[in-house]
Amino acid sequence: MRDNRQFCPVCTSLLVHREIGGIERPLCSDTSCGFVFWDNPIPVVAGIVEHEGKLVFARNALWPEGMYGLVTGFLEPRETPEFGVVREVAEELGLRARVTEFVGAYGFARKNQLLLAYHLVAEGTITLDAELADYFHVDKAEAEYWPGGTGLAVRDWLLSQGYDPQPRELPDAVKAWMKAPIDQD
Ligand SMILES: [Zn+2]
Repeated sequence: MRDNRQFCPVCTSLLVHREIGGIERPLCSDTSCGFVFWDNPIPVVAGIVEHEGKLVFARNALWPEGMYGLVTGFLEPRETPEFGVVREVAEELGLRARVTEFVGAYGFARKNQLLLAYHLVAEGTITLDAELADYFHVDKAEAEYWPGGTGLAVRDWLLSQGYDPQPRELPDAVKAWMKAPIDQD
């Protein structure tokens, strides 16, 4: 995450930059305040959703044409990751889901996030919320993964189920987008 803040969010003194623990970090110039912007990775839950025996990949309205991925979201205060991913599936796809397993934790340096990926089985009729523009169903035997972010969780889950997933051929616009520096979306 880019940080353009100039002033301490605690006491409004100027921020300065100093090396702490081998990394240059913004910190408060008033040592009696002591604020340090650690910029720790933010946890994000991601759901590999199985619906009617197939996987559901969705396209965020902000993503380029041809980019499909998992349902993801930030945790609400005091929420468990399992509850959070079920809530996100309900909000974004309109489905009732239950977690079947934790797939894994994946660093996502480009967005300074820690992805917590789950597999879920979901029921109901898909109704996209405004955050999503499109979705598709795919047989597990034909599901492809994408080489980064939540795509690695898709790959690992399919491998654990005995499938042999292949990387998806991505349009050039999607490849460029996946490499571009980004802020939160
Ligand atoms: Zn301060």
